[in-house]
Amino acid sequence: MSKRTLTIHYTGFRECPNCEGRGDDGAAWRPFSCKRCEGRGKLVTDVEVEDPVRGKLPRSSYDFNARGEVFLVDFDEDEEVEVVRPGDPWG
Ligand SMILES: [Zn+2]
Repeated sequence: MSKRTLTIHYTGFRECPNCEGRGDDGAAWRPFSCKRCEGRGKLVTDVEVEDPVRGKLPRSSYDFNARGEVFLVDFDEDEEVEVVRPGDPWG
């Protein structure tokens, strides 16, 4: 069985409401990274997952969280899948 490589594209972001996009707590001296966005200032709101054979997967076949982690739903466990994330999705 050949290995499939799924490619993830982050297609939507929103400003982190916890730190208002700063990525930290705004302290003048030694600011702490925002826990919610992990210092990025942005949260992921939309993701596309592309299969080399089937094209874009339907939205119902995967889930994701605000940190950009993608979880496949109802996936055949016998199938070996490699998930490729963009190098620097936060650009
Ligand atoms: Zn934040």
